[in-house]
Amino acid sequence: MIENCVFCKIAAGQVPCDKVYEDDLVLGFLDIAPLNPGHMLLIPKEHHTSATTLPDAVAARLFQVAPRLAQALVRATDAGGFNLILANGTAAGQVVPHVHLHIVPRRADDGLVMPTRSIPYPSDAAKARLLTRVQARLEP
Ligand SMILES: [Zn+2]
Repeated sequence: MIENCVFCKIAAGQVPCDKVYEDDLVLGFLDIAPLNPGHMLLIPKEHHTSATTLPDAVAARLFQVAPRLAQALVRATDAGGFNLILANGTAAGQVVPHVHLHIVPRRADDGLVMPTRSIPYPSDAAKARLLTRVQARLEP
């Protein structure tokens, strides 16, 4: 647990939350600033700043539980779908430095806008170079 981390405090029961789900590894609760009614956060109970440092078992559990919570949320709110959003790093919009997966119920007319901008590669060669660089840096 990190002393000044609000999500660690929530996981430890030191800060209250509207709990939706809890098991030995993860905790799901309603976001205090919902994008839509029912917007939840699913967090690992132990502190990890980045999704890249999650133990496999914790990462797996997050993505095992998230669709189940999302399905219950869709059924409970009559939403038409949902978004799973994980902002990793401040450049990506991560505000609380404790991994959290947003589960946002969606309706076609809810006014939320997901990024749809597309930036084409300058050339096929540039795309191939990037592909090679990423593959060379993949860790087992
Ligand atoms: Zn934390």
